[in-house]
Amino acid sequence: MPSLSMEGPYRFNIKTINEKVTRVSPGNYVLGRRNEHGTFLFSYIGRANTDLNSKLKSRAAKIDKPFFKFRYSDTAQEAFRIECENYHDYAKKGKNKHPKRPADTDWKCPRCKIFK
Ligand SMILES: [Zn+2]
Repeated sequence: MPSLSMEGPYRFNIKTINEKVTRVSPGNYVLGRRNEHGTFLFSYIGRANTDLNSKLKSRAAKIDKPFFKFRYSDTAQEAFRIECENYHDYAKKGKNKHPKRPADTDWKCPRCKIFK
């Protein structure tokens, strides 16, 4: 599995999210599991435009994955760009959908022309 430059993997539960994701910041995350050798394998990618901690906790209530990794981003637009890169590098073949941009922006994907 390629490196994502993210912290973790950590247990994907509310307690651990609060312990590890302590800044109110945009950011990126992936969710997944560990195989029998302990290697982290992710199957879900996402981002938060404003508050990574609360986004992860809302996901933890709905999505059943044992582990997460994360990174902070300086801006929401940087988080969007990184999510697009992760999507094109790792997630395009699965059932993941292309990341969406916020409706009030004209941000473009760095890798494709889905946003004209
Ligand atoms: Zn794209």
